[in-house]
Amino acid sequence: MHVKGESSMAESECIFCRIVNGEIPCAKVYEDDAVLAFLDLGPMAKGHTLVVPKRHCENLLAFPEEEAPALIAALKKVGNAVMQATGAGGFHVLQNNFPAAGQTVFHLHWHIIPRSEGDGMSLWAQGTYGEGEMAELAASIAERM
Ligand code: 5GP
Ligand code: ZN
Repeated sequence: MHVKGESSMAESECIFCRIVNGEIPCAKVYEDDAVLAFLDLGPMAKGHTLVVPKRHCENLLAFPEEEAPALIAALKKVGNAVMQATGAGGFHVLQNNFPAAGQTVFHLHWHIIPRSEGDGMSLWAQGTYGEGEMAELAASIAERM
């Protein structure tokens, strides 16, 4: 299988590795053996938190599946705590892969973004498919697994 996303950046140059190692300060909200979570410097909403696997990997395609349970547990804990602390009614879990999708830090991380009714944030711009296009694209994706 061709897997994009193998790590190419030296960990010493990686800003999130340096935060994990304590070389750069952060506003930490949670830590366990596998995961560190801290507030994003440029929040989409107050309380916007980054959940970061401690071990460097570049994006989701390079993330070992055996690390997923610890990561999901952390997302649930942090999401719930952010929601309570900010008084939000909900939250997004977002994760960007590759520059075309907005990834700017090439150490895998998940964004927890608190949301409230009427906060004016708009993330979904939905479109439509032409005749037959949906089935054709689904088949094309399925044959690449
Ligand atoms: P991406 O665009 O790669 O999904 O998200 C990277 C995020 O990291 C951005 O939202 C940005 O504000 C945040 N960020 C970048 N550098 C730092 C930093 O040094 N400290 C913190 N706390 N957040 C950072
Ligand atoms: Zn890193």
